[in-house]
Amino acid sequence: MTDAGRSSDTVFGAIVRGEILADVVYEDEHCIAFRDLNPQAPVHVLVIPRLGLSGLQDAEQAGPELLGRLMQAAKKAADLEGLEDGWRLVVNVGEDAGQTVAHLHLHVLGGRRLAWPPG
Ligand code: 5GP
Repeated sequence: MTDAGRSSDTVFGAIVRGEILADVVYEDEHCIAFRDLNPQAPVHVLVIPRLGLSGLQDAEQAGPELLGRLMQAAKKAADLEGLEDGWRLVVNVGEDAGQTVAHLHLHVLGGRRLAWPPG
């Protein structure tokens, strides 16, 4: 875990530091929600903490308050994107789940009917 200003060395850390631009939907002092570069649904927003956590693998370091704030930010992003008919929250954890960026992120997916179970 690292401080916000020295966030993890990933593309999301660069977004936190403002070195890479993102299409931001919502942000506060703890987290940033921005549109995914390669959307898997009409609405696909990523919610990340400013703190450099590598994923839910770091849940204990993150603590319940920050994890709760991320969930609340996801709900805010879904509201701002107008997902009143429903939406899905996904967290890929580790290789088997297909996690590709080692900075904790929640996927907010919606705007179409989503199949279940996921692949
Ligand atoms: P993961 O597969 O790790 O759960 O999700 C990583 C997500 O980050 C992918 O959906 C991918 O499209 C997105 N992504 C990767 N690089 C960037 C980037 O530079 N900007 C944005 N907005 N999304 C990115």
